[in-house]
Formats: sequence, C-alpha cells, structure tokens
Amino acid sequence: MDKYSCREATRLLLQEQDRELTTGESTMLQFHLGICAACRKFRDQAELMRQAMARWRGYRDDDQEK
Ligand SMILES: [Zn+2]
Repeated sequence: MDKYSCREATRLLLQEQDRELTTGESTMLQFHLGICAACRKFRDQAELMRQAMARWRGYRDDDQEK
C-alpha cells in the first residue's frame, strides 16, 4: 500500500466528482481515508467546494434562461 500516497488519494477524490471510480480505485481510496486524517479533511473541503460550484452553476443556468 506504500505506493498509494496522499497525492493519489487527492487525485481520486477530485476525479470522483467527474466520473465513477473503478472498484479498485474506490477500495484504495476508502482504505487510505481510513488511515489518513489529512485526506479526510481534504475530502470534506472538496465536498464543500463541489457544493459551492453546484450553486454557482445554478446561478449561471438561471442567467442563461433569461
Ligand atoms: Zn492521505
């Protein structure tokens, strides 16, 4: 599991928002999150960011409909 670094975990956390992770990726990610508090924190931040972006996109869609 040494090869599976925080760098890899954060990359997957971001990709997870755009695509479905493979079972292997998802398993590794969950394992890493289980042992790494820093990446759990990153996941929380990424989730907040995603929600903010979704709201922002919502506003843009409203603008375009006018
Ligand atoms: Zn980590």
